[in-house]
Amino acid sequence: MIPPSEPQSEALLLPELTSLQEQIRNMQGILDQVGSYIFMKDTDGRYTYVNQGIQELFGTSFENIIGKDSSAFFEPMLVKELQDNDHRVITLGETIEKEERLSIKGTDEERIFWAVKKPLRNEQGEIIGLSGISTDITARKQIENALRESETHLRLSQINGGVGTWEADLVNNKQKWLESCTKLLGFPYLSEPTWEDFLALVHPEDRQRVIDATKSHIEHNHKYDVEYRATLANGDIRWMRSAGQVERDADGKPIIMRGIVQDVTERYENQQRIEKLLDEQKAILENRLVGIVTVRDRKIIWANSAYETMLGYSKGEVAGLLTRQLYLNEEDYQAVGAAYANIESEAIFNAQHEFIRKDGSHIWLGMTGTLLNKVTGESLWVFVDVTDRKLAEDNLRIAATAFESHEGIMVTDQNNSILRVNRAFTDITGYTAEEVIGKNPSILHSGRQNKEFYTAMWQCINQSGTWQGEVWNRRKNGEVYPEHLTVTAIKDQHNMVRNYVASLSDITNSKAAADEIQHLAFYDCLTGLPNRRLLLDRLKQAFTSSMRSGKDGALLFVDLDNFKMLNDTLGHVIGDILLQQVAVRLTTIIQEADTVARLSGDEFLVILEDLSQYDLEAASQAETIANKILETLNQPYQLDTHKYHTTCSIGITLFNDHHAGVEELLKQADIAMYQAKKEGRNTLRFFDKRMQDAINFRASLENDLSDALNRQEFQLYYQAQVNHENCVLGAEALIRWLHPERGLISPSDFIPLAEETGLILSIGEWALNAACAQLRAWQENIHTCQLTLSVNVSAKQFRQPDFINLVKMVIKNHGINPTFLKLELTESILLESMEDTIASMHALNELGIHFALDDFGTGYSSLQYLKRLPLYQLKIDKSFVQDIARDDGDQAIVQTIIAMANNLQLNVIAEGVETEEQKQLLLNKGCHTYQGYLFGKPVPIEQFNGALNKN
Ligand code: C2E
Ligand code: CA
Ligand code: CA
Repeated sequence: MIPPSEPQSEALLLPELTSLQEQIRNMQGILDQVGSYIFMKDTDGRYTYVNQGIQELFGTSFENIIGKDSSAFFEPMLVKELQDNDHRVITLGETIEKEERLSIKGTDEERIFWAVKKPLRNEQGEIIGLSGISTDITARKQIENALRESETHLRLSQINGGVGTWEADLVNNKQKWLESCTKLLGFPYLSEPTWEDFLALVHPEDRQRVIDATKSHIEHNHKYDVEYRATLANGDIRWMRSAGQVERDADGKPIIMRGIVQDVTERYENQQRIEKLLDEQKAILENRLVGIVTVRDRKIIWANSAYETMLGYSKGEVAGLLTRQLYLNEEDYQAVGAAYANIESEAIFNAQHEFIRKDGSHIWLGMTGTLLNKVTGESLWVFVDVTDRKLAEDNLRIAATAFESHEGIMVTDQNNSILRVNRAFTDITGYTAEEVIGKNPSILHSGRQNKEFYTAMWQCINQSGTWQGEVWNRRKNGEVYPEHLTVTAIKDQHNMVRNYVASLSDITNSKAAADEIQHLAFYDCLTGLPNRRLLLDRLKQAFTSSMRSGKDGALLFVDLDNFKMLNDTLGHVIGDILLQQVAVRLTTIIQEADTVARLSGDEFLVILEDLSQYDLEAASQAETIANKILETLNQPYQLDTHKYHTTCSIGITLFNDHHAGVEELLKQADIAMYQAKKEGRNTLRFFDKRMQDAINFRASLENDLSDALNRQEFQLYYQAQVNHENCVLGAEALIRWLHPERGLISPSDFIPLAEETGLILSIGEWALNAACAQLRAWQENIHTCQLTLSVNVSAKQFRQPDFINLVKMVIKNHGINPTFLKLELTESILLESMEDTIASMHALNELGIHFALDDFGTGYSSLQYLKRLPLYQLKIDKSFVQDIARDDGDQAIVQTIIAMANNLQLNVIAEGVETEEQKQLLLNKGCHTYQGYLFGKPVPIEQFNGALNKN
């Protein structure tokens, strides 16, 4: 995958191709120049190659011969024999050497040839045609003929023909080598040579052949025509051809033998050379990988089968095609033509073009051309299929393009010295290629990762071959930036690392996005403060650092007072603005090292670290800061158009090595904060032993509460409700828990717990049943049948799905008149699913049941909703009654509530009336019904009934 240093597009042709072409050209030249006629034929006897000699002999051009068979050029009478001979070579694999008397069509001249025809075989040894070499022996033949006719003639012709004559006296064993033998052929001069003398001249390897030929001629009258090597007078060894004829006496006894001898060395060697050339030529022309074509006048004259296969044509189909047909692009064709027009015979022309195959598909061919014949303009072209190479080249180009991608790429050698970088690398790092090539990539290091980081990284690359991750690098301008880096080791076939390729992308932007996500996960989006998760994390850190340093830390739980009211009256938008401003104020107070977090809603937490190692001193340091928070948060706020004032309650807990869990610590601060609330708000409280005890108590209470019902530990107390004449109108049923060990437990200690755990449902049901049982008892008595009974119903209880059915059942079971039953609800029932609440109230109201709104004035009901509730009574909360004699504000509130009740045509009752003064004040303001210690504390039923009887 390493991009090459330069994508290669030039010089694509194999050098072998050029040399091959050169070889063919040379060979063609040789074949054309030898004095023989050379040809090749396919298995059908059609010419596939003819040399210049044959073209001259046939008197026509190459393309007119190729593809045709003998019948096109020879007289019909001869053709049959020629074809039979061809057939023997092709089908039987014989080599034929024989004389052929041939007349070329259209001429009356007969010529005699010595023809050697051999089968042509492919690599598998299969015969694919034949090669032929013919030598014109017409002249020699004339000498031979003359020899027979007359010695005189012979002598004449000897001189011209380069032929020696000889005679052998078989009776006296005397040889007579005529003058020509010594003069023309260089035989040694011997005055009376014998047969043995002659044999001594013959090459030892050929001697037996000569003896056999002679014997077979004399004894069996076989033809005597033999070739052998002879050692001449000057020591040269030459090939001789000797032919002769025996003469016999009347009895048939051989007397004399006469013949000629001719030096055929040249022909012999020529033939050998040609055979070798043809073999080579065949190998080349039939090469299955290289297409070979000869062209004249822009027309294909001949093509080998490899070329035909390349272009998808069958055998012989290509010859005759115009080359233009084969080029895909006109420009390519023109370019080749123009280049060809300029080439000298020696020049070689290289190109690479796309061609059209017979089936219309395309093929990339590398081609080289050369002029074969200056006169005819015939050219030779050699082709190789470079489609694969072209594809590879395209891939390289793609790789090169990819190399210039938006990802920075850096290639190093095995020593990690930079070899190459791309443009994106320069864009990202600011370094140009020249500046980094040869350098180590460590020039990019930012110093943000330590040595161990890089050691681990290289360990990973060496083991797995690759590493990826995020690193901080430094740009040329010094800027440190985050990048995603992938390093891959490139190995060679021996598994040795050759290169490292690093691809790097600048992730400054995505990093920012990731940071944003991180921020969302760990920060509160409204105030930008750390959220609960991050807080817990920081708290853990603070823990460990406190353990290490021995110094105390503190956790402050800051809760805004009456925040809910603000939210409900001015809306969440305003509420959010307050929270944001509180967050800003808290952050300005708290040092940077400390943490301010928002837990939820209006709850903030502050972690203080590095306080004193002494608890008391640490507590006072924490208190100082907590007071500062109180003071700061007490300053007026401008919330949009509203001027607002709020306070907060702070719970503080200290931590050091004694403390355990984070959650535990949070709980402690929470408890302390509740303590602060309980003690009047706008204040701070420390978590201490007593608080812990309270928690423990609560925990055990929770445990016991679940069994309390079964153990029948609950009881109802009754508190009278009276009119201004102190006549008892009815009572409120108030639950009590008679704990076997702890004694009487107040509902304010266990009702919230019951609500949290859900036990309130069964407890509430029990209370309702118990109350209705009492109501039934009253209704059965003439003195008490007019008494109403109020039962407290918690919001959770009221919202349970079949609360209405439960009430109906209870009424039915006890057979009471529901109009004397009063359910006391608090405004909290309106906080959720108001429409359902209103609907339920109406349903119950239709049964005759009355509703009183308990603790009225402490909540935040809007008049709007109150109007829609089927209420019977508003119950003024005891907190307003308590101070009514001294606090003008409370008086005003009570006044308002009474006015509101009148307005809504509701009955109004005041609870917690303890003094006559309070009663009078309420009476003066128009409240005529009361409940409180002044008239009687909540008491068991026996006591209550007893008190009734007294009055
Ligand atoms: P509440 O409904 O507001 O009940 C009135 C509380 O004021 C009672 O406290 C009562 O004992 C107390 N109280 C009455 N007169 C005076 C007085 O003159 N001065 C003072 N300081 N207090 C007075 P208690 O019985 O401790 O009940 C506390 C709360 O527990 C009740 O407040 C009510 O919300 C809840 N609760 C009591 N019984 C039940 C019940 O059966 N079911 C439900 N869901 N809640 C109940
Ligand atoms: Ca009540
Ligand atoms: Ca109340």
